[in-house]
Amino acid sequence: MIKFLDLKVTNEKYKEELLKTFESVLDSGWYIMGNELLEFEKEFAQYCGTKYCVGVANGLEALSLILRAYDIGPGDEVIVPANTYIASILAISQNGAKPILVEPSLLTYNIDEEKIEEKITERTKAILVVHLYGKVANMDIINKIAKNNKIKVIEDGAQAHGAMFNNQKVGSLGDAAGFSFYPGKNLGALGDGGAVTTNDAELFEKIKMLRNYGSSKKYENKLKGFNSRLDEMQAAFLRIKLRGLDLENQKRQEIASYYLKEIKNADIIVPINKIEKEHVWHLFVLMVENRDDFQKYLLENKIETMIHYPIPPHKQLAYEELNKEEYKITEKIHKKIVSIPLNPNLSELEVSKIVNVINRYEK
Ligand SMILES: *Cc1c(COP(=O)(O)O)cnc(C)c1O
Repeated sequence: MIKFLDLKVTNEKYKEELLKTFESVLDSGWYIMGNELLEFEKEFAQYCGTKYCVGVANGLEALSLILRAYDIGPGDEVIVPANTYIASILAISQNGAKPILVEPSLLTYNIDEEKIEEKITERTKAILVVHLYGKVANMDIINKIAKNNKIKVIEDGAQAHGAMFNNQKVGSLGDAAGFSFYPGKNLGALGDGGAVTTNDAELFEKIKMLRNYGSSKKYENKLKGFNSRLDEMQAAFLRIKLRGLDLENQKRQEIASYYLKEIKNADIIVPINKIEKEHVWHLFVLMVENRDDFQKYLLENKIETMIHYPIPPHKQLAYEELNKEEYKITEKIHKKIVSIPLNPNLSELEVSKIVNVINRYEK
């Protein structure tokens, strides 16, 4: 069986280093808000090309704290793609603000920039851009719209660590960015983790407080904060894994180019990607007319697939209030997409088997 993703294999190549750092953190006797976190924050800021980074508990919290720190809440609106993972939407509603869904482009799966401006009102405070599947949204156009309307641009970089746009990394392309280090992401911890990156000094100071009870000095609370910290163990693991990120992304790109070149089946739509260097291929998503049948066929051929995601946010029970408008493109995407295995663990043999099986598929 070719698994969709085997995290044991992912982490095996770091095992010795991880065990060594585990022992060192264990023996330090200091597990929260210590040196490993400070060093990771420095290293990740440098990696993304930003002045600042704050480690937080997870990706949802990273996004949520950015909105909180910008005072975006009840009465405010935030523009967000309709076909994102639910966490992008939760970050907005958690703060009492209203998610304003915008349809994606069928070509990129990212927010359709042409449809943003018509949704901007006096209440709009920010655009939450999601670089879905590892592909960067068109930040030139999005930043221009934001500037013209004096609103913030917040990146959801949870699927796009290391992806580039105009030679700049995700995390540095808007006013602030939220990252997730959930184990299956391109940069994954051995548990939950997240971070905010920004060049905004004021935002940086505020989020540092918000993640730690609203305090920057022990037992003095300037803000009503949260407990949303990245612990020393995860920070130490992430420092090791960050050193391997570029190589892992490069392997993803190699497999993706192979898929793009070799998958030839009139019944299957492959993703479009002209600028390979910018895309970090968190997921390789195909569109197929009879998706369930296709998945079954691949499984019979011992290839595991997944769907990202089967139900769009506005069709979730939790978001009935968003289900008043139609989002036809989003719904079409959700009905036809299927993600095939793409991760740095795959061998050449496995990758070529996947291509052969897909090319033999008949509707
Ligand atoms: C994974 C993910 C998140 C949430 O990250 P967690 O660390 O699981 O909270 C947010 N947005 C997107 C697009 C994601 O893929």
